[in-house]
This record gives sequence, structure tokens and C-alpha cells, in this order.
Amino acid sequence: MTRYFDAHCHLSDTPELPFDPSKFAGVICNATNVSKWHDIVTMTRARPNVFGAIGIHPWEIDTANSDWADILYRTLAATPGLMVGEIGLDKNYPDMPTQQHVFRQHLNIASRLSRIVHIHCVGAWDCMFATLNSLEKLPPAILFHGYSGGVPQIKMLSERYNAYFSYGPRALRGGVRSVARIINTPRSRLLTESDSCTPDIVIDVTNKIADILNLDTGHLADIICQNSQRMLANG
Ligand SMILES: [Zn+2]
Repeated sequence: MTRYFDAHCHLSDTPELPFDPSKFAGVICNATNVSKWHDIVTMTRARPNVFGAIGIHPWEIDTANSDWADILYRTLAATPGLMVGEIGLDKNYPDMPTQQHVFRQHLNIASRLSRIVHIHCVGAWDCMFATLNSLEKLPPAILFHGYSGGVPQIKMLSERYNAYFSYGPRALRGGVRSVARIINTPRSRLLTESDSCTPDIVIDVTNKIADILNLDTGHLADIICQNSQRMLANG
């Protein structure tokens, strides 16, 4: 049976998760602010194929208390396999210097604890590269979720930062540039995402990407599951 992977979703801890676990090799749930971290930790402990990432989204940095970085460090240290996300930079939201400061703090903690990071970047690629280039130590792998950067940068990011790229419904609405990104993402770096509370969306996403790449859906789903296992093994 074909099994799918949702590399970026947002779920809450409910008795019944909103997807059929038998259809999924795994899902990665991201928190967007500190109030959601506990839920993510509880979910990942209780469910074998649910992986978690905690962080503060660039849209929500004004929700952070002064001790958020300490809590992040302690929670990650106490929870093996827990990742860092959703973090990043977004030019459509105010105060880029504070966004960059908070983003860099997350990256430093992830690097110290060797945790994978899940990045949201919209229109702030120069600042993104400057921040990544300034790190003394790199995280073991980076997932660029809903990748919207340049095609020529995909190879460099893969090689220099052990980067993976996930695409979901928004990317598939993006026309020729999105198609160019998907086609030019190395097969070994390609992942799918729902970026929602409905992982089943990934089934349709996988079908559409398979059409773009002229691959059988089951074969592509297998490649994506292998990619996800390889990425997770780095954390
Ligand atoms: Zn998200």
C-alpha cells in the first residue's frame, strides 16, 4: 500500500488525530508559538509516526516571553528527536531585525543540540543567507518548507546546509516558477507537505507532483518516504 509523508503540518493533540495513520509513514507537526510546545511534545511521545518541531514563527514573535529561549533549550534537551520549527523570516511582517535575532537564537540552540530545523522564508532570502552564513555551527539538516526561493540556490542549499525542500498546495498554485523549483529539486531532497491541520491533502499533492515529474505516484511516495527517513536520521 502506498504510504505518504507530511513533512510540515500543524496539528493539535486530540484523542482522534485528523488523518488515517495507516496511510502515512509519518507526519511532522510544527508549533508556531510557545503555548503550543507542550501539545507537540505530548503528541510526539504518544504516537510513533508523529514527529514534532517547536519554535516561534516569524508572524508570532511578539508572543514570546523573555525566557522562551531557556524553555526551548530545556524542552529540546529533555526530548530526543524533537526538532526546531517553525522558524524563519518573512518580509511581509514587521521588524526584520527582531525576526532575524529570534531566528538566529533558534538556529544556535538547534546547532548546539544537533536538531533539524524547519524554516519558513518569504521574500527575505538575502537576510536568510546572511544569517545562515554567520553561524559558527550548522544544524544537521534544514527543511525549507513551501520553498519559494530561487532555482539556482537549491543545489547550493542542498550541499552546504544538507537542505530538504517540501512543497504543498500553495506551491502547486504558483505556476511556472513553482514547477521549475520542483523539477530542479534533486529527487533525494524532495518532500511533500500539507501546511495545514489536514495531512490527507498530501495525497493530492503527491499525485500532482508525480504528474509534474512524470512519475508513478506510488514510486514518488516511496522516494519521499525514503527522503524523510534520511532527513530524520540526521537529527
Ligand atoms: Zn506552517
